[in-house]
Amino acid sequence: MSLSKLSQFGTKHVAKGIARLTPEVFAEGSGSYVTTVEGKKLLDFTSGIGVVNLGHCHPSVTKAAQYQVGKLVHGQVNIAFHQPYLSLIESLLPLMPHKSLDTFFFWNSGAEAVEAAVKLARHATKKQNVIVMQGSYHGRTFGTMAMTRSKTIYGEGYGPLMPGVFPVPFPYCTQCSIRQQSDGKFGFENCCMDPIRQLKLLLKQQTAPSETSAIFIEPVLGEGGYVVPPAEYLAEVRKICDENNILLVADEVQCGFGRTGKMFAIEHWNVRPDILIMAKGIANGFPLSGIVSRKELMDMQKPGSMGGTYAGNAVSCAAGVAVAKAFKDEKILDNVTARGAELKAMLTALQKDPKTSKIIYDVRGLGLMVGLEFTPGSGAAAKVQAKCMEQGMLVLTTSVFDTLRFIPPLNITKDDMAKGCEIIKTAIQEVAG
Ligand code: PMP
Repeated sequence: MSLSKLSQFGTKHVAKGIARLTPEVFAEGSGSYVTTVEGKKLLDFTSGIGVVNLGHCHPSVTKAAQYQVGKLVHGQVNIAFHQPYLSLIESLLPLMPHKSLDTFFFWNSGAEAVEAAVKLARHATKKQNVIVMQGSYHGRTFGTMAMTRSKTIYGEGYGPLMPGVFPVPFPYCTQCSIRQQSDGKFGFENCCMDPIRQLKLLLKQQTAPSETSAIFIEPVLGEGGYVVPPAEYLAEVRKICDENNILLVADEVQCGFGRTGKMFAIEHWNVRPDILIMAKGIANGFPLSGIVSRKELMDMQKPGSMGGTYAGNAVSCAAGVAVAKAFKDEKILDNVTARGAELKAMLTALQKDPKTSKIIYDVRGLGLMVGLEFTPGSGAAAKVQAKCMEQGMLVLTTSVFDTLRFIPPLNITKDDMAKGCEIIKTAIQEVAG
């Protein structure tokens, strides 16, 4: 079938609720590239939304999955342990950001894992409400829809949503109204730490500590704009949790698994989460997610109250074991730091260049989780995205602000990064005029 026939077929038979970046039809993927049915090779700076962190069809992950397919595909976890499930835990334990995180529950998708964390938090604290961040994304399932606060589209028309979810501002400094209105008078630090004051107020005005089970936070805000919080922020949130017997839940579905240059983003601030949520990069494209917490919390749940037919699938777990090994063998984190610095240097130079500075508002991010916010109202993100596409490169926008995000595979080569930087630079220069 030709591309247009395939595309027409897809448009006719695939749910319209799924939006798409491009009408292309992907046929293959290898490393930092995907190839379309027409043989067009596209440089992938999306990694399938931060999933194929080791590139498409990473050889050792593919090999591990192929081996497992011939050995045991489905070892249902409510019937028995299976080997890859236990091997995966063994591989993940040394990677945890805190040694208290020693007991695991695996699911399929990020949203399911978030819901598992809500169940755990409610059950362990015997409290119902949760606090989430404005701009956060936790999924599109029924429960997570109420927790997702990055765009109204995710909940619009699907309500009423799960009750007991209270949003609080995330320290998004470039968008901070205090800073914009009173820069100088209040200063950068006051503006960025205002969300802490808001959080304390929330606990006094809207959801009492005695009814609040957990604060859910993406240590680096993903779908809300690739926002890195100020240095002291997460430690302050931890303190508030400790003072009020509230659990701190780190949703590292997007920022975890090496994306920011550390195995988990929360390590940048040395803060201990009570529950850590993982997905996306954990199995490099195989459906797998999980939560990890301390045993005393996890063991409070009644046997049988957790689980699911496909939870912790054997092939996905085997892929996950190979991912963890590749991180060590291939020194992935070093590459993230080096390539991330190259990407940011290129963007920062454009921010300073008088020819392009007028459309660039902010360059931010950690490692290979890099955001580029354009001047509000410029509409530049979509224009730059389209120009990159014309040059054979996939990039994604993020948030309701005019922002592009760059999330190439973490093992992208120096040459491919240079190629990607050149395409982005030319696209920005053209849009700036
Ligand atoms: N949490 C975060 C931080 C995410 O970025 C996402 C997905 N973008 C999810 C949860 C939901 O994951 P999934 O799409 O696998 O359900």
